[in-house]
Amino acid sequence: MITNRQVKLAKRPQPGMLARDVFAVEDGPVPEPAPGQFRVKVHYVSLDPAMRGWVSDAKSYVPPVGVGEVMRAYASGIVEASQHPDFTVGDAVQGLFGVQQYALSKGARVYKIDTDAAPLERWIGGLGMPGWTAYFGLLEVGQPKSGETVVVSAASGAVGSVVGQIAKIKGCRVVGIAGGADKCRYVAQELGFDTCIDYKAGGLAQRLAEACPKGIDVYFENVGGEILEAVLPRMNLFGRIPVCGLISGYNATQASAGPNLRPVLTQRLKMQGLIVFDWADRIPEAMRELGAWHKAGLLKIREDVREGGVDAFPETLNLLYTGGNFGKLVLKV
Ligand code: NDP
Repeated sequence: MITNRQVKLAKRPQPGMLARDVFAVEDGPVPEPAPGQFRVKVHYVSLDPAMRGWVSDAKSYVPPVGVGEVMRAYASGIVEASQHPDFTVGDAVQGLFGVQQYALSKGARVYKIDTDAAPLERWIGGLGMPGWTAYFGLLEVGQPKSGETVVVSAASGAVGSVVGQIAKIKGCRVVGIAGGADKCRYVAQELGFDTCIDYKAGGLAQRLAEACPKGIDVYFENVGGEILEAVLPRMNLFGRIPVCGLISGYNATQASAGPNLRPVLTQRLKMQGLIVFDWADRIPEAMRELGAWHKAGLLKIREDVREGGVDAFPETLNLLYTGGNFGKLVLKV
């Protein structure tokens, strides 16, 4: 008898690498489509870094996979039975079919794919979700402009490889970061990035400086941690950092030093630096508005006025760095 072999989530994982017994493999019946449904014979299942998050019940951008449910996954395959008006037997499709041999679907977020243009497996890779991520993440968030320097981490991977190549298409200088000489050779020689830095060889900060003589305009973040730490000081004025993934922390068993950037990713936060003089020509407007609010009692302002004249400057100044001031620190001279 033909069965449907499925991978189900057996229990919530502990922090760290996923243990085998987090998942259970079971044989179930091959499902029959009801009216409005079709059955897909799954040929390829996509394995994505996000899966580590999908099995955890930490707050995220999608609900976690429930214990006992088939593991969520993108997959591609062929429709082999259909009672759906828009999908016919023989259609090649991709969608969230799960880690199983046969999937039932109502067609929501299922895309027909052209296997003459590319093989089934590519439609869940560079032409599938990772490719879409690269496309929107780079073009919409990164906003690369011709001549700019774009750095991408996990550069040989599903997302990073597409990011870098789109950036080349847009006329950018593109620097990849990847682990190991083979991956770097592939990224630079086969994918056509201008260069690729092997972060495992050490000296990342120095090699970034050499590879990015004009600094970095866009850093497409896939990794986080030490790579982000090395990249940040080299960012140019008004640089952009699409925070796509932070894979170096996905299996962490303890919090790393420094801020946890995960909310930037899951809440789609936008972090952008500013310097007041970016609005230098609008300062009269600010003075007028603030003054009016203050006069109307809508804006309360407090000063912390210190005595001691200019002699007291050093120690008075230092109050700022210990929180010794309460309100706007002012020295009376
Ligand atoms: P990849 O094909 O790039 O595979 C993951 C790669 O990450 C590994 O090959 C490895 O490359 C690198 N890596 C793994 N662990 C570490 C580590 N500790 N330090 C540094 N690098 C590490 O995966 P994807 O292209 O599918 O995903 C890339 C990133 O994009 C992930 O962070 C993922 O979560 C994210 N993503 C986000 C989406 C979104 O909508 N925001 C959608 C899809 C993916 P190397 O050997 O070079 O170190």
